[in-house]
Amino acid sequence: MPELPEIQAHAERLSAEFGGRALAGFRPIAFTALKTFAPPPEAAVGHALAGVGRRGKYLLVDFGVVTFVVHLMQGGRLKPDEKQSAKPRGGLARWVFADGTALLLTEAGTEKRAGVWVREGELETQEPIEGLGPDADTVDATAMAAICATHSMRLHGLLRDQRAIAGIGRRLANETCHRSKLSPFANASKLKPDEVERLAEAIHHCIDESLAYERSRDDMSSSKERPGSVHHRAGEACPVCGDVVREVEYTRYTVNYCATCQTGGKVLADNTTSKFLK
Ligand SMILES: [Zn+2]
Repeated sequence: MPELPEIQAHAERLSAEFGGRALAGFRPIAFTALKTFAPPPEAAVGHALAGVGRRGKYLLVDFGVVTFVVHLMQGGRLKPDEKQSAKPRGGLARWVFADGTALLLTEAGTEKRAGVWVREGELETQEPIEGLGPDADTVDATAMAAICATHSMRLHGLLRDQRAIAGIGRRLANETCHRSKLSPFANASKLKPDEVERLAEAIHHCIDESLAYERSRDDMSSSKERPGSVHHRAGEACPVCGDVVREVEYTRYTVNYCATCQTGGKVLADNTTSKFLK
């Protein structure tokens, strides 16, 4: 799933290419794509795209009068739509601009969970933005300490909890735990001040690294291409210490870690039964 850096760079690309273009029409292709009734998407027709922003893992397609809040989920993409075919593969919704260009929201796979919310006014008090934690790239060590102190849960789970801290998913959770030399299963509320400081540094480092990579591209990377040390690298050598990268697999995600760097050499139990539940 694209996380903060990928969404941020993509928002910047879309802003640069489509900013200033007036909307001619919005068409939901799959009727489940549009999550809101009011205001209607037509409220944006005739208005210029002010820009595309980001909050957490959401794209904010801002026409001034209304904002289309877009979540790509796992396999969603929002891209220039050169063909504008009647039934685009995986098509969920299309924005057509007055100059004849268009943006198409697609989603690969069968799950179809990507969606569009049309909102006017303050986004922070409305779904789906309401309740999001602070964006991960804005959280300093002091703020991170407060977040950790109030969450008695596994660190990996806390990092992925969008209501605690927004923008981090499975990959960045794995990478930030590894860089900060913390166990993904450590209780966040019991981290020591120096550990929280390392965690905050790691979050910023991993986001900056991915953002720099993502900004060097013309389109969003696939998850395999993204920079990292441990995510989806089970069996490879840890680039820090040379120990083997290990994994604990769950139904919906995999925790990757280095025992030497992160758990004092302790190998965490692999929840192998979850493999059969996939
Ligand atoms: Zn290591």
